[in-house]
Amino acid sequence: MEFFTGEMQYLHDGHARFPMRLGHEWSGTVSAVGYGVDARWLGRRVTGDTMLGCRACRRCLSGNQHVCEHRFEVGIRGGFAGALAEQLAVPVTSLHELPLGVDEVLGALVEPGGSALRSVQRAALKTGDRALVLGPGTIGLLAGLFAKAQGAEVHVMGKTQRSLNFARTLGFHGVWAADELPALPFDAVIDASNAPTLPAKALELVEPAKWVVYVGLAGSPSLIDTRTLAMKDVTAVGVLSASPGLAKP
Ligand SMILES: [Zn+2]
Repeated sequence: MEFFTGEMQYLHDGHARFPMRLGHEWSGTVSAVGYGVDARWLGRRVTGDTMLGCRACRRCLSGNQHVCEHRFEVGIRGGFAGALAEQLAVPVTSLHELPLGVDEVLGALVEPGGSALRSVQRAALKTGDRALVLGPGTIGLLAGLFAKAQGAEVHVMGKTQRSLNFARTLGFHGVWAADELPALPFDAVIDASNAPTLPAKALELVEPAKWVVYVGLAGSPSLIDTRTLAMKDVTAVGVLSASPGLAKP
């Protein structure tokens, strides 16, 4: 959507340009392998990491290839053709085999799922904690489900009636429009929205000495007041991509 509307930051800083082939949330079956690649990959059902680091720089070598300065992002950055096509070529090092029981639709949700999982891991939730997710999009709802699976009481705040109605089918403790949100203490607030005002709102809503996680991206600068961060002794964490959340635990 951000590419369609032109809001995507990479279009403005030169990391992406049209024409491009989108598609970074995908699954498929390996139909061919390149020179030197183990032929046992053939026929395997897989999904893949979006982030393709250079594998040579300091960040890549320390395990942070998802923030490599020279990375490609499949279907997003650096002109790497994405998955909105019948066939897709990716490095074998980016592949993850899908277990039986994960069909191709769920396989395509692994990528946003990795971002959601990392967001919940970074929120430092304990059983019985109360979490608030801002933005019931794919990542927000998956984060809510992971938090629920960890034993948290999960609330979701959203905007459109359609998305709120869908969120209500997923068994969260509360699903709210902004003007209905109850004044409860939230042990973690995960901002998975694209609203420029919500990062500051997340900081306002979180309990002192707890966590806010920023995984959503607005199309314009979304500012927070670091005085609030310091005065509330809050830990703020940013999450980019699924990469470190894709491997088996
Ligand atoms: Zn690198």
